Amino acid sequence: MVRHNWTKEEILEIYNKPLLELVFEAAQVHRKHNDPSEVQVSTLISIKTGGCPEDCGYCPQAARYHTDIEGNDLMSVNQVKAQALRAKASGTSRVCMGAAWRNVKEGPEFEQVLEMVRELNKIDVEVCCTLGMLTESQAKRLANAGLYAYNHNLDTSEEYYKEVISTRGYEDRLQTIDNVRKTNVTVCSGGIIGMGESAEDRAGMLVSLSTMIPQPESVPINSLVAVEGTPMEEQNVTSIWDMVRMIATTRIVMPETLVRLSAGRTEMSDEGQALCFMAGAASIFAGDKLLTTPNPDINKDMELFKILGLKPTKPYKKGDKPAIVDEEVPTSNKADLKWSRPGHTIDKNIAATQKAKAIRNTNA
Ligand code: SF4
Repeated sequence: MVRHNWTKEEILEIYNKPLLELVFEAAQVHRKHNDPSEVQVSTLISIKTGGCPEDCGYCPQAARYHTDIEGNDLMSVNQVKAQALRAKASGTSRVCMGAAWRNVKEGPEFEQVLEMVRELNKIDVEVCCTLGMLTESQAKRLANAGLYAYNHNLDTSEEYYKEVISTRGYEDRLQTIDNVRKTNVTVCSGGIIGMGESAEDRAGMLVSLSTMIPQPESVPINSLVAVEGTPMEEQNVTSIWDMVRMIATTRIVMPETLVRLSAGRTEMSDEGQALCFMAGAASIFAGDKLLTTPNPDINKDMELFKILGLKPTKPYKKGDKPAIVDEEVPTSNKADLKWSRPGHTIDKNIAATQKAKAIRNTNA
């Protein structure tokens, strides 16, 4: 049975169990609800990189920080399709297209993304997008184009969110997820550990996700990749034990969800990743880059799968392929375009922004 009434105290109690007991319990839940011999392989394509107006403290794509990522304009449909076909040939069943936008804006770029969704749907991969905040009418248009999943991470607890981002509110995240839920598109939403949050914050995020009805179909758990120039550049690498705890706890409170072992895998040993699979991780991101940060090579992943006796999940294992529906272009609803700007200040984000300005002035 899937429970939707988890409390923070209950989740913390699970998170803090003796590690091996926790992994054993999570492995039992995983085996009851999922095929433990399969791991879904997802590929993330950064269709538009850098230049983002938001101030997410972990993100090298925020225009206000000085990082060495190379930005690019929106890729062409053919470029994306070629990358997706290559990914599919090496075992990927889901392709996620990410754009560094605050929110989706109506216009030619959105039309181009819709065309990408249609083209990727036709090559039989599960198509996912992560494009920022989304209105209900935009969610419907993506659904009509054949989108399978929409990613919109909560990142952390509602309380700690205020320490990470000041340019939008937690309620905007929840609103976007609600908008996606009004369609047949599945929800992918998770978070990042290692940003300086407490175990209570980790549990708080899992309360927000597990009490959704239905629970998100996929939950990516990322370990912060601290990038120079971002406000979180000095954060230590997250311990593998914390990652195992987080994966196992997520598996127990969301038994049917695809728990994805996401960013940070380059810092994990094969043995550490194996423990995460044991504890219920049922998906990974493949490809040598995750948007802008490094990720293990797909051949290395496939070698590990062989050693562990795992195989990549086929597309549409848990849902039908979405049909592409001819649509009338709807007029957008202005009322749902008002996203918040909380306007509180985050010292670390301000310091990183000032540092970036100073570097730019010196280089000018
Ligand atoms: S995480 Fe997304 S919204 Fe935040 S700065 Fe990066 S690209 Fe922009």
